[in-house]
Amino acid sequence: MNATALADQAEAAARDARRKLASIGGDRPADIASDPWLAEQIGALLLALATDTARLCRHVKPSPMVLHATAWTPGRVVCERCAPQLRPATYQQDTTCDRCGEHTSAIYSGALAFGSILFTFGLCGGCIHSSPVYRPALI
Ligand SMILES: [Zn+2]
Ligand SMILES: [Zn+2]
Repeated sequence: MNATALADQAEAAARDARRKLASIGGDRPADIASDPWLAEQIGALLLALATDTARLCRHVKPSPMVLHATAWTPGRVVCERCAPQLRPATYQQDTTCDRCGEHTSAIYSGALAFGSILFTFGLCGGCIHSSPVYRPALI
């Protein structure tokens, strides 16, 4: 495949991810850097992808596609079909703030599209209100 076709596909996948995100909540990818924790999560994910240490589902192809990743499954990147496998496995996991580690039954879900990657996270009330970046990201 030539570079132009690949770039077109990458842009289409990124657009698709943003559209999906828009259907579940807000999207302010430009604000990623306003919370070092979020920037760190995305950085670690990109590093895992770049160094081939990310755990991909078997459907992930080299061609651009919408991918799913979560804060509670670091290094895992899966296709749309496998996304339900990323749901928190235990009650403990489901009630833990991904950012500060606090256990609470009031976890707020957030998501952002980074390129064609939909990144989901769950934060406690303290963390969700700590930065304006999270308010529009609430699902
Ligand atoms: Zn898959
Ligand atoms: Zn927290």
